[in-house]
Amino acid sequence: MRATIRLQALTFDLDDTLWDNHQVMVETETGHYAWLDEALEGWQRNRGQAPAQRFAERFPLEAFLDQRRELAAAYPLRRGDFTWLREQALQRLLVAYGLDGDTARSWAGAAMDRFMLLRHRVTPHPEVESLLTTLGQHYRLASITNGNVDIHRLPLGRHFPVAIAAGELFAPKPDARPFLAALARLGTSPAQTLHVGDSWREDVEPARRLGMQVAWISPHIDDMPLPAGIHRLNHVRELPELLRTLGACRA
Ligand SMILES: [Mg+2]
Repeated sequence: MRATIRLQALTFDLDDTLWDNHQVMVETETGHYAWLDEALEGWQRNRGQAPAQRFAERFPLEAFLDQRRELAAAYPLRRGDFTWLREQALQRLLVAYGLDGDTARSWAGAAMDRFMLLRHRVTPHPEVESLLTTLGQHYRLASITNGNVDIHRLPLGRHFPVAIAAGELFAPKPDARPFLAALARLGTSPAQTLHVGDSWREDVEPARRLGMQVAWISPHIDDMPLPAGIHRLNHVRELPELLRTLGACRA
């Protein structure tokens, strides 16, 4: 007879687990860069300094990406701190464009404010609000993300008393530390906790290695047999059914 697993807590990845992230990232990436280009050009014109070449012409988005890659290689400890990498990369490009250090810092900061505004325009799957409301009555809940969404800027944030921003810990998943931080703050053990995430490398492997159960959100149908403790779901909406199957739902 299978022993009943007494789960006490659930940890959730955010991007591509609670919402589809691709489109919002595309819009955020292009949107904040276009905003910077436009606003900077207007500022230059107002000062009677119409540029011969606009910022985004001189440094198209690919140059910005290259700059972030260079910085991540030069500062490996910061490789997962995407917010820092982005702001530093913008500053460097703005200085290379001809702005002085203070002005570049100020424009990079303004562009990052815009980035964060757009970045938080995520649309959680319609089932998520009620799902978390119900689960929160039975389990302690935490979020663990490598991304730069601050869950507490979203209405969903009220469901997560514990929120771990792994990049800012200098230890992005698959590092075990963001999981350990979440478990410590939840006051639970790995065996009593199930992690929910879409990435095999960043969610499934590290959580399982610690001894957590894992719900792997993977809509791609395949017959790959999964190791014990790993449960594939097509969608996060299937989580309550899994918890019932595990004999863990104390509803
Ligand atoms: Mg994810």
